[in-house]
Amino acid sequence: MVVDEPTADRPHPTGSARRRPRCAGCGRPVPACWCRFVSQVRTRHRIVVLRHPREARHAFGTVPVLVRTIPDTEVYDGVRRTPEATQAIFGEPDRPPLLLYPGPDAGGSGVTDGAGTGETARTLVVIDGTWGQARGMVNADPELSALPRLSLVPTSSSRYAIRAQPFPHGLSTVEAVAEALVLLGDEPVVRDALLRPLAALVGMHLACADAAGGDVLDDPVALERAGYLPPLPAAPASPATPAPPASPAPPV
Ligand SMILES: [Zn+2]
Repeated sequence: MVVDEPTADRPHPTGSARRRPRCAGCGRPVPACWCRFVSQVRTRHRIVVLRHPREARHAFGTVPVLVRTIPDTEVYDGVRRTPEATQAIFGEPDRPPLLLYPGPDAGGSGVTDGAGTGETARTLVVIDGTWGQARGMVNADPELSALPRLSLVPTSSSRYAIRAQPFPHGLSTVEAVAEALVLLGDEPVVRDALLRPLAALVGMHLACADAAGGDVLDDPVALERAGYLPPLPAAPASPATPAPPASPAPPV
């Protein structure tokens, strides 16, 4: 008789499997936490993410890395644009929207509306999903597809796409945003801060795959020595504390 043994990777149908506690900051199981690799940075650009619902449930979605590193990032889940997302995209004339998505003309990296990439603060509209999901969301939304676009030709970060299983379709969302922000005039330190937790996330995934198990995460020193983990940031990682509530509007 074969007994269905509960394991950490294959939860028992009755729910009696050992449940690993999860980090409140990154949502990953505690041994796979990447929070210590986070160093927060600021950008003058507004980042609005339209996330496909399936991507929101993906264990290796990279939007949490983006949100932890740039806390002002706004994320709206849904296949269709919500009124709140519309307000975020079009509600700030001083930072006109720019869709991070390939333009009709394949070519180098750049902005299709001809604006200087380093001169104007923008609202960067990011679609988070597989290429198929993103294409569907853009094609079904005339206002979205009519926006000026920022196209990317990846430079350094494609190494993750080649090595890591989580991103078979090319750049992950956080990699694309990192490249876009530098193209829009941000300092390279912004890109580095975004890519460091991603490198840790991917490195831990690869280490588990190579070792055929998660116990390898119990020895982070050995993981760093073996090249799976990036160096820690110079500044201490920020604590995973929630943002304070917004101040009430003054009476009129
Ligand atoms: Zn964490």
